[in-house]
Amino acid sequence: MKPGPKSSPKPPPHPAAGDHPRKSAETGQPVGVNALHLLVFGAHPDDIEFACGGIVARETRAGRSVHFVVCSRGEAGTHGTPTQRTAEARQAAKLLGASLEFADLGGDAHFEERAVHVVALARIIRRVRPGFVLAPTTVENQHPDHYKLGRMVRDAARLARYGGVRELRRDPPHAIGQLFFYAVTPEAEPREVTPVFIDVCDVMEPWYNAMIAHRSQLKSRPYHLLQMARASVLGQRLGVHGAMALYPNDPLVFDSLASLGRSGRRY
Ligand SMILES: [Zn+2]
Repeated sequence: MKPGPKSSPKPPPHPAAGDHPRKSAETGQPVGVNALHLLVFGAHPDDIEFACGGIVARETRAGRSVHFVVCSRGEAGTHGTPTQRTAEARQAAKLLGASLEFADLGGDAHFEERAVHVVALARIIRRVRPGFVLAPTTVENQHPDHYKLGRMVRDAARLARYGGVRELRRDPPHAIGQLFFYAVTPEAEPREVTPVFIDVCDVMEPWYNAMIAHRSQLKSRPYHLLQMARASVLGQRLGVHGAMALYPNDPLVFDSLASLGRSGRRY
């Protein structure tokens, strides 16, 4: 199924943190008028749950809207058919309380960085109008679909706010609040970016259940145990039971010191 306004869900309006009644210098459109709290892009049917499912669970548990865009059916995987993997992705999204659609960027293991694909992703951003966007990191030593998707989402978030892009004129421009990258594996963690950490200790169970919904993928390796171990190590470092990292694409801006939360310096 290709993304389109007729077949894709339009999540209910939800105010996102950081809304401001100011206008974009580039588009003249209001900034921060979001129809969706969080939009998450994944290259393969299981990437979102394994890499940032706990973060998603935190947001949906708080009543904030989350939408997944999965950009293949996992047809190049060693285990599981596209039909099985599509069903697993739907079940996992449901367990996390997120809506889901599929997009086509050339097929599993065949992602191509093309303008037409970036425009297609920008069109999705304009349609669902998120406050925050998550995508895989652009570190290259990982599955090639992951870093190619990360780069295309970064570029799409830029095009989504440009008023003059011919193919995008059907929907008004939209400037997202922030783009964060997630690392599907430890090898994909960028060394030069300071991460932000999300405390996920209250949602370890729904996150775990969403991961094991991808049962076809657990036949080769215990990917879910790797992710739980990563969250546990990060959590121990920060003084909580579980934490996950996100890597900001741009500098973070806060209204005041009161918004900064707590420090992770424990040792
Ligand atoms: Zn993947």
